[in-house]
Amino acid sequence: MGVADNGGTFSADRPRSRRSFLFIAGALAAGLIGIAADRVFARADGSAEKTVEVTDGDGNVHRFPLAVDGRHSITSSLGTNTIAIENGFVRMESADCPNHDCIDQAPLCDASGAIICIPHRLIVRVISTEEGRSDSAFA
Ligand SMILES: [Zn+2]
Repeated sequence: MGVADNGGTFSADRPRSRRSFLFIAGALAAGLIGIAADRVFARADGSAEKTVEVTDGDGNVHRFPLAVDGRHSITSSLGTNTIAIENGFVRMESADCPNHDCIDQAPLCDASGAIICIPHRLIVRVISTEEGRSDSAFA
């Protein structure tokens, strides 16, 4: 009868739709694993452990994670500097110092250099938390 046929069709269809569901779920899971792997590699690379350290003209130290994009203004009694953190680099975006030499300096992504604003006696550096750890281990 019609009802029996429908039932048969329904039960025959079931495994097929279940397979496609599993396929989609598997594809989603693979995508999630890929994203998780990216994060693990970013950490292993050390980029997530780097910190931007700004020492201003008053001797205050400001720290920002290099992995988090953003803009930060640092004001001391000598003036204001604004740094921009983007894609793992930090650069001097603006400053109210007279010559703006600090804005022309190359962006930093590691501890190999520094951005210095001489009129404001401000220093921007990138420090690695991992290096700090090994240093304290040796001390
Ligand atoms: Zn400057």
